[in-house]
Amino acid sequence: MKLLLVEDEKDISTFVKKGLESELFSVDIANDGLRGESMARMNDYDIVILDQNLPHKNGIDICQSLRETGRNVPIIMLTAEKEIEKKVQALTIGANDYMTKPFAIEELIARIRVLLRDNPQQTTSTILTYKDITIDLDKFTATRDSCPLNLRKKELALLEYFMRNPDAILTRSMILEHVWDTNADPFTNTVEVHIRNLRQKLNENSKEKLIETIRGIGYRL
Ligand code: CA
Repeated sequence: MKLLLVEDEKDISTFVKKGLESELFSVDIANDGLRGESMARMNDYDIVILDQNLPHKNGIDICQSLRETGRNVPIIMLTAEKEIEKKVQALTIGANDYMTKPFAIEELIARIRVLLRDNPQQTTSTILTYKDITIDLDKFTATRDSCPLNLRKKELALLEYFMRNPDAILTRSMILEHVWDTNADPFTNTVEVHIRNLRQKLNENSKEKLIETIRGIGYRL
């Protein structure tokens, strides 16, 4: 799951990014309104979190312009203000939810999960299965044929992406885009290294070898 957080206060963006990444989300940050809007247009995010008061373009205007151009990505607005008026305005112009600062990261995560669950385009069950593999995203565990796989968090996020797209060919850049944040260096071999490690752990005790390399194109579970 990939999120965009548009927030100009560095303390808050750092805190939210850290909290969300520990739940296996990958998080891009934009620290002003114009950059946030262009990132929301260019990339395919599962959720966009918009601060209301931002340099260059405020959250309400960004939300409105995304909706007017047919973007239906779920949006959560953040604000320092408590007035009912602002909340009503945000919801009226198409935000899906609203949080007042300060907030607990647990509450934000719970609201994100509700939005992902309610969005019919998403399959956001926290327990996924594919053949004899099961992952539990609440407990951060993965098993194959009931044996624990002891995956690192990034390996689990990678496996989640494969399991949400079974039998599809995933290119290296799709994987990089969905599992890593935009700061990831596209020229490193980090995807290859993580796939090699994941494949090794997955296949160690099983006859059926999973994660096929499609030469010159990408990978397929
Ligand atoms: Ca702000």
